[in-house]
Amino acid sequence: MARHTAAVCKLCRRERMKLFLKGPKCESMKCPVERKPYPPGQHGRGRIRESEYLIQLREKQKARRIYGVLEKQFRKMYAAANSEDGITGEILLRMLEQRLDNAVFRANFAASRNQARQLVRHGHILVNAKRVTIPSYLVRKEDVITLTDKAKANIVVRHNLDTITRSIPQWLDVKPDTHEVTVRELPLREQIDVPVREQLIVELYSK
Ligand code: SF4
Repeated sequence: MARHTAAVCKLCRRERMKLFLKGPKCESMKCPVERKPYPPGQHGRGRIRESEYLIQLREKQKARRIYGVLEKQFRKMYAAANSEDGITGEILLRMLEQRLDNAVFRANFAASRNQARQLVRHGHILVNAKRVTIPSYLVRKEDVITLTDKAKANIVVRHNLDTITRSIPQWLDVKPDTHEVTVRELPLREQIDVPVREQLIVELYSK
């Protein structure tokens, strides 16, 4: 499966903001955005003329990078969102948020979406008691997401469950004793706390 393999911190520096792609390092002073708050590369500190296209492009790249979606898949999601009734940008963000790897991350089973993706791919996640190994699987209302017994005993997962204190979005209901997550409803725009202006992505793809 295709995936991004370059240094992920460069992605944050390119967007000039923390995208929280690495778990605990993101909260520490080791975060390169704290130390080098300018884009990577030889011309990183130079002046960039911000055209309308560039602003729209950066917004799309930011969304892709936060959720770890490659261009082709992102475009497909946009096409699916565009074919639904409603506000395309909001539907697109809702679909990104519905991804199984994102739901696993939001439930605090993983320190980052990357780690959540790995848990899904390695078969540690059950949806409605069935193993699902596709990170892009879109969870639906009333789906129940659980960890396998092996995952519950995994030292990394245990550490995450004991230490991660991110607030859980309202669209998910997590039972702390059994680590069972129920999708209460599909996420609303105001429940999605990513710093993305989705309208700019729609404008970019509408050209
Ligand atoms: Fe981004 Fe985290 Fe790397 Fe900082 S440490 S640059 S927030 S991935």
